[in-house]
Amino acid sequence: MEQFQHYIGGAFSEGTARFESRNPATGEVWAMMPEAQAEDVNAAVEAAHAAFRSPDWAGLSATARGKLLYRLADLIAENAEVLARLETRDTGKIIRETSAQVAYVAEYYRYYAGLADKIEGAHLPIDKPDMEVWLRREPVGVVAAIVPWNSQLFLSAVKIGPALAAGCTMVLKASEDGPAPMLEFARIFDRAGFPPGVLNVVTGFGSDCGAVLTSHPKVSHVAFTGGPGTARAVVRNSAENLASTSLELGGKSPFIVFADADLDSAVNAQVSGIFAATGQSCVAGSRLLVEHAIKDAFLERLKDKAEAVVIGPPDDMSTEVGPLCTRAQVDRAADLVARSVAMGARLVTGGQALDRAGTYFPPTIVDCTDTPDAPCLTEEVFGPVLSVQSFETEAEAVELANATEYGLASGVFTRDLTRAHRMVRAIDAGIVWINTYRAVSPIAPFGGHGLSGHGREGGLQAALDYTKVKSVWLRTSDDPIPDPFVMR
Ligand code: NDP
Repeated sequence: MEQFQHYIGGAFSEGTARFESRNPATGEVWAMMPEAQAEDVNAAVEAAHAAFRSPDWAGLSATARGKLLYRLADLIAENAEVLARLETRDTGKIIRETSAQVAYVAEYYRYYAGLADKIEGAHLPIDKPDMEVWLRREPVGVVAAIVPWNSQLFLSAVKIGPALAAGCTMVLKASEDGPAPMLEFARIFDRAGFPPGVLNVVTGFGSDCGAVLTSHPKVSHVAFTGGPGTARAVVRNSAENLASTSLELGGKSPFIVFADADLDSAVNAQVSGIFAATGQSCVAGSRLLVEHAIKDAFLERLKDKAEAVVIGPPDDMSTEVGPLCTRAQVDRAADLVARSVAMGARLVTGGQALDRAGTYFPPTIVDCTDTPDAPCLTEEVFGPVLSVQSFETEAEAVELANATEYGLASGVFTRDLTRAHRMVRAIDAGIVWINTYRAVSPIAPFGGHGLSGHGREGGLQAALDYTKVKSVWLRTSDDPIPDPFVMR
């Protein structure tokens, strides 16, 4: 049985309690994880707070912070295989994806390493002749970061990279489901040479240790990725302390295909959009909106692809769809599909948990054209379930696309350039992919609005969000200060 530890103040510890972690491919317990209690979380926040004030971190130049992040990126690249295998084992995410993703995670750290000494203040052309006024950008302080099980190494990189580049320190709570990759990441982080306490990694049950962390008076900012329900609890907790928040939440993203699209590309992108990562992706293109004239032909091709997907153990390079992370996810997907079919939606393929060991649910397509209230169309499934609607006109496509409280991602497939531009303006989402889907880069901001949250990860903006602006006023005149009863 493998054992994992917390990382607090630069030291590894067992934690006051422990819990079992299961391999989703087999259902077997394979490791013991530390379960953070209030005292562990408090120790982690104290360590981050001490590090934030310590000359070893606060006194480092931005360039020196960048060099540490470069070293971390190199270590991640060197240990990519170990990290990928652990993520696959503990979460069921297929090795094909974890291998590629961990290698790219190193690039996120490199991007923020290079950015560290480019987070600039400004000089203001102030409207008073005897004043110099400039802005300093200073780190916000201790950041509490919370991530869900899917893509934890990636979802934490888009928080740790910009926060540390900006000079913050952090306590990261890994998900209780599949925390192994983050606890192994902590071991790697420890070798990069950061002062103790700059990053602390704990795991445990959200409702207990997550609540203590997000309401802690020494936390200045909460960076959260998860579902909207939990986000509300997180915001309520952080309000105790009036901490700022950035929220990367779920989605119900439209994938729109016009009749003039390159259909080979569109079918492949839709497969990637909903079945990759076994659908456990916040940007999953989970609502197919297809122009009526090509609906039947498109669905036929999609069904063939969905049924040909290789379902298997996540650690096999040939597997395309692996298990869902937990039994609860399987039950949720099955329930949403069953309730939709009971309302009159047409099951095109899939729909029921696979009768084998592990938590497997097959690629599923449900035609909801005549059931606009079907729950698999309106609720985030977070599994390989695609709901389908059709449209006759561009205006109708826009109306259906925006008929959701989420606003994270969207995809448009068309060869008509002017229409593509109109769709970009009309779609209410943080990301619009045209003739592609599920593309990300450290250079491009990522995030949404509405039930999908607020704030952006990736790009320069993410680093700026971990800073606060200080206005500095310097009087350049040696004359006596004029009338003290008049505001200058
Ligand atoms: P949850 O919201 O249930 O959990 C997310 C994290 O919050 C977990 O670490 C969880 O801990 C923790 N948590 C739970 N309760 C609390 C609490 N009261 N206070 C503080 N933390 C708490 O999300 P899921 O695990 O179900 O993840 C799936 C969701 O994440 C989906 O909605 C998905 O769309 C979204 N997501 C968004 C992404 C984005 O970038 N926009 C990317 C990936 C996923 P524990 O695991 O211990 O319960």
